[in-house]
Amino acid sequence: MHLLVVEDDLSIAEPLCAGLLREGFSVQHVATGAEATSAGDADLVLLDLGLPDLDGRAVCRALRAESNVPIIVVTARSDEIDRVTLLELGADDYVVKPFGFRELVARIGAVLRRTGASETSGASSTASAIDLGWLRLDRRTRRVTVDDDEVALTPKEFDLLAFLAADVGTIHLRDEIIRDVWDENWWGSTKTLDVHIASLRKKIGATSIVTVRGVGFGLAEHRDAASGER
Ligand code: CA
Repeated sequence: MHLLVVEDDLSIAEPLCAGLLREGFSVQHVATGAEATSAGDADLVLLDLGLPDLDGRAVCRALRAESNVPIIVVTARSDEIDRVTLLELGADDYVVKPFGFRELVARIGAVLRRTGASETSGASSTASAIDLGWLRLDRRTRRVTVDDDEVALTPKEFDLLAFLAADVGTIHLRDEIIRDVWDENWWGSTKTLDVHIASLRKKIGATSIVTVRGVGFGLAEHRDAASGER
């Protein structure tokens, strides 16, 4: 995955690009709108709206006019941007400065999955059986074993685990999980998600599910590698 980072503030751009490289992305950094619109193809663009040469909104429109590349807008609170404006600009999501790095990575993952740009989403999410060694899950029989012992899950617990297991190691946003496992028109309490996560942890192991507080959850690839919360 090749990311284009458009950010004129080097105190933000440098640690951001270093972090994204560590996450396994290839990263191109530019500091102006003019460079952004003339940069080559990217799989996703992180676009700061406050640029020195061009209005970030115009850059966003120009990028969108050129291609369907997913765009995540980075705004300062003072930009007072709303979802409607973003949709008009053609952006796929946005983060407000100051943002947490883990949250940004989760949002990048969510946008790439939603727009179908992620290479890994297709095959793994349609596989009927998932085998992590310690955990096995079969969608056809709806059976789950942990260390070869069968675990009894409720239907929603199974759906939740199957969703997380389809993309092991990825942090899924709370909204994304609720939309997929419950219903896109779910208006109930989001506490429901926390209750199901807690009961899943009791059944498959406390360190098996990684929490990013206020952001989302992911299934740990190796139980022991997870601290449970980070
Ligand atoms: Ca800026």
